[in-house]
Amino acid sequence: MFYELLIDYICKLKISIMQLVFASNNKNKIKEIQLLVPQSIQVLSLEDIGCLEEIPETADTIEGNAIQKANYVTEKYGYNCFADDTGLEVEALNGEPGVYSARYAGEQKDANDNMDKLVLNLKDKTNRSAQFKTVIALNLDGNQTLFTGIIKGKIIDEKMGTNGFGYDPIFIAEGYSKTFAELTIEEKSTISHRGLAVKQLVAFLAAK
Ligand code: IMP
Repeated sequence: MFYELLIDYICKLKISIMQLVFASNNKNKIKEIQLLVPQSIQVLSLEDIGCLEEIPETADTIEGNAIQKANYVTEKYGYNCFADDTGLEVEALNGEPGVYSARYAGEQKDANDNMDKLVLNLKDKTNRSAQFKTVIALNLDGNQTLFTGIIKGKIIDEKMGTNGFGYDPIFIAEGYSKTFAELTIEEKSTISHRGLAVKQLVAFLAAK
């Protein structure tokens, strides 16, 4: 009787745990996402599935890059998978750096260089409005769904804070006085572009 109950319990456990690959090796992003995803979803990194090569991101839109990354993993490794792509869109620069946020100041993809270039390009601009936009592409059992998260805010000249990554030290979200880099990882993921997109993803998976 005990063993029957145990087997039943293990079977139920197996059914209720979903494995999903997150097409990223960015440790900050993986941490942010794990905080938001319920325990019933096991998030695997690219390293976990033995995908060590760099996945191409050659589309000219944020949506296109998210789709390209998710499709790469599903087609090459056969996993259900989600991939995100993010861009910082600055109003006074007609949406720049946008899809090119990672390599704004060059192929070295250096966060400090990117921030310096952005601050320089905004030197004479009074309009400091900007938004982070994340698109998540989910490939689940042969279907693809997109989720978008946007957080509006402004760009400041001086880098403040040491948490987070990318443009966090010069971005202040609307209604806040601290930069993303001055917030804790928990505070940031509750309000961030990626957090908002992940919440939609989680709600979608919960309704399945
Ligand atoms: P990715 O393609 O999603 O990795 O994002 C492209 C670039 O946008 C990154 O290299 C960062 O420079 C920037 N970025 C993405 N997410 C964030 C964030 O949460 N905070 C600050 N910068 C970010």
